[in-house]
Amino acid sequence: MTKRKKEYRDYLESDHWQNLRKEAFAKYGSICSACCEAPAKSVHHLRYLSFYNITVEDVRPVCGKCHSTIHKLHKKARRKNLNYFERWLFAIKEIQAKIKTRRKREEMAKFEDWSI
Ligand SMILES: [Zn+2]
Ligand SMILES: [Zn+2]
Repeated sequence: MTKRKKEYRDYLESDHWQNLRKEAFAKYGSICSACCEAPAKSVHHLRYLSFYNITVEDVRPVCGKCHSTIHKLHKKARRKNLNYFERWLFAIKEIQAKIKTRRKREEMAKFEDWSI
């Protein structure tokens, strides 16, 4: 295991991280901050200054699905030269747009059922 990986593993077990997690759920609630639908299972870092130099403002609770989507979207955001907060907003916007499209499709499907 690399030094960095070991450091990260130790960090996830630290009181600092455990408390920050609790604080994040208390502040932002236990529903995903990105899709606002699913229960949040993990806490995403908007930015990493260093392991211990972050506050509750730098993290958000997210569901597993959004969490992986967010990290994929971050690659696109990097090309757009966004700062960490713009990058987070960009990811939420994309996720919300997808949900809207899905809901519209669901509504249309219902409508089609009625018209039979
Ligand atoms: Zn979500
Ligand atoms: Zn993350």
